[in-house]
Amino acid sequence: MTVNLLDFDLEGLAGFCERLGEKRYRAVQLFRWIHQKGASDFDAMSDLAKTLREKLKTAAQVSGLKVLSEHISTDGTIKWLFDVGAGNAVESVFIPEEDRGTLCISSQAGCAMGCRFCSTGHQGFSRNLSTGEIIAQLWFAEHFLRRHLKRDERVISNVVMMGMGEPLQNYAELLPALRTMLDDHGYGLSRRRVTVSTAGIVPKMDLLAQDCPVALAVSLHAPSDELRDRLVPLNKKYPLVELLAACERYLAFAPRDFITFEYCMLEGVNDRPEQARELVDLVQRQSGKSGWCKFNLIPFNPFAGSGLNRSSAQRTMAFARILTDAGIVTTIRKTRGDDIDAACGQLAGDVMDRTRVGERIARQRTVMLTSVTSLDRAAQET
Ligand code: SAH
Ligand code: SF4
Repeated sequence: MTVNLLDFDLEGLAGFCERLGEKRYRAVQLFRWIHQKGASDFDAMSDLAKTLREKLKTAAQVSGLKVLSEHISTDGTIKWLFDVGAGNAVESVFIPEEDRGTLCISSQAGCAMGCRFCSTGHQGFSRNLSTGEIIAQLWFAEHFLRRHLKRDERVISNVVMMGMGEPLQNYAELLPALRTMLDDHGYGLSRRRVTVSTAGIVPKMDLLAQDCPVALAVSLHAPSDELRDRLVPLNKKYPLVELLAACERYLAFAPRDFITFEYCMLEGVNDRPEQARELVDLVQRQSGKSGWCKFNLIPFNPFAGSGLNRSSAQRTMAFARILTDAGIVTTIRKTRGDDIDAACGQLAGDVMDRTRVGERIARQRTVMLTSVTSLDRAAQET
């Protein structure tokens, strides 16, 4: 079986070159061809020795994902559904803005965390994506966009791990993918512009701080263990006191001086004014001040059978006001249209009947993840 070179970060590729009997530095050339130029054909890698190219042709390949569907909206947002085999598919979304381009990436097919308000969670877990499958989303999108926009320079400046799946539950495969994103010979993204979003796997947050500290978003969704246990079952394992302590530890390594808390606004569940005040207490109790975190309130995107409703705009604004008045920077994520059933955290998942999903995807207005960039913008306003 040939090796997929998208599975390697630069260090891994250097090891692979060594195993082929080549000098390690050859890996830099190869890595640049793959990630910076988007090449997959070894014969096109003109400055590699012919002998190396021949070895690569027998031992390796650069193997991307098959695109099942693509939709380009009028505002430039693009959504791709990728085939990851055995009836599974994952989504990535590109959101262009004047000063940046953000790609939202999936880390798993499905998710095992079972959050009450998330349709990916309701679908259950199918499997972890490999490093190659994670990075292939960026590899494809970046080089597709350069061709599409006729640009030579980088198009994607920000990556958010907010697609399908819990990235920290797929830590071993995530790490080389993050390193490739940050590597100057790869995508050269700033640590501040790569965001991992997690439901709160505490030991993995500590590991990430050591191994590859990037911007961190934590899905909080409730001010008390009693409620969070019900909304995010992972809370039973890592309750709020442990989660917040892990956030504080992470800050010592983070590229930004705050953590972003995501909070999905659910009518009558977690959107009462006293719950906003509880959040303020929670945050202030942790470090005696409030500036160490920011809140991003996400209007709930309903899906069939969820039994939950989105909080009204008025209620969401009142909630935001309480946090802001306490000195906590708070943004409300924009949601464009209620007709969309594939927003961040709700992505398509298992695709047993590809045709129907393909049609549904094509029907959807692919603007929902513009919201992600508002999170990112908030995250950049240091
Ligand atoms: N598993 C990770 C990252 C993927 S989910 C995490 O939970 O953080 C990305 C974001 O979408 C999370 O903040 C999640 O809570 C949110 N989300 C999930 N389902 C949602 C829904 N139905 N409406 C709005 N946001 C949702
Ligand atoms: Fe998984 Fe995140 Fe959805 Fe929870 S919100 S089920 S962790 S994808």
